[in-house]
Amino acid sequence: MEEKDRKLSIVVSVYNEEAALREFYRVSRPIFESLSWDYELIFVNDGSSDKSGEILRGFAAENTKIRLVEFSRNFGHEAAMIAGIDYSTGDGVVCMDADLQHPPELLRDIIAKLGEGYEVVNMVRTSNTSAGWLKNVTSSAFYHLINRISDVKMLENASDFFALSAEAAEVLRVDYREKVRFLRGYVQNIGFRRTAITYEARPRVAGHSKYSIRRLARLAVNTILCFSDMPLRLGIYTGFFVGLLGIILMIYTIWSHIVTGTPNGYATIVVVLCFMFAVLFFLLGIIGEYIAVLFAELKDRPVYIVRDTVNCEKKPLKEKS
Ligand code: UDP
Ligand code: MG
Repeated sequence: MEEKDRKLSIVVSVYNEEAALREFYRVSRPIFESLSWDYELIFVNDGSSDKSGEILRGFAAENTKIRLVEFSRNFGHEAAMIAGIDYSTGDGVVCMDADLQHPPELLRDIIAKLGEGYEVVNMVRTSNTSAGWLKNVTSSAFYHLINRISDVKMLENASDFFALSAEAAEVLRVDYREKVRFLRGYVQNIGFRRTAITYEARPRVAGHSKYSIRRLARLAVNTILCFSDMPLRLGIYTGFFVGLLGIILMIYTIWSHIVTGTPNGYATIVVVLCFMFAVLFFLLGIIGEYIAVLFAELKDRPVYIVRDTVNCEKKPLKEKS
């Protein structure tokens, strides 16, 4: 096949990026045009409340290679990437940010890897200078934890910048439709021929990060919930531990009764009770989180809702039986 007969779908999720969009397009368009493959640029407007939608419509009006998928409200970055993958028609799909943190010139290397027959290309950050040390430390701790407690292995610093072949994208499109999810985790665990490219994340061109600490914490908890059932077993471990503690305490109480003749009571009871209830409520909370995941899956609500599209056909709603 001729190189230009192959097409790369570039998915860009956009949420209130009016300050960065024009610069993004100005810098990356010449690069997209100069690629050895043809391209389609899929902007997913994730319910932006600023002028992003208008700006994107402007782009789409003068360049038919641009597709615009507009959500009915904000569904989050992951949902936006999933929608982009759903609407992509290329031989390869790349997801990237709209803030130029993911250098567009790397698409050349990505195309080279896809051309060599790799089906999953993970882009690994060497440093994230714009994130600050706290974000970097917690992110690193999180990856260590998830790699320990789940049987999947995730690359530390793998970013939301990744590429998939059409076959690998099809797997995500059809089979990985979980409501509580971690897309980056799936990308790393669907198998296929994989490779990684390292890159240096740049500072944002404009605007500010849309991921608050709270949102990141939620993402971390969701990832643990959908990739590990170890927390559910914590109850068994603590059961053993607390049982052992009880036996030791019992032996000590009997011994002190025999030796001193005074069973020491009240303080011990209060301490033990508080400890036990703390553990119990904690475990109950964990079970509650898993039930919430089950409930979300059971309700089977859509991952995203499309309000309108430009330069591509809106996909019909899924019928439920
Ligand atoms: N984004 C989105 N929906 C959201 C939050 C973010 O589509 O609810 C987009 C955002 O516009 C950007 C990308 O996802 O293009 C990554 O977000 P951001 O750059 O804020 O995250 P960071 O790079 O700081 O991790
Ligand atoms: Mg960013």
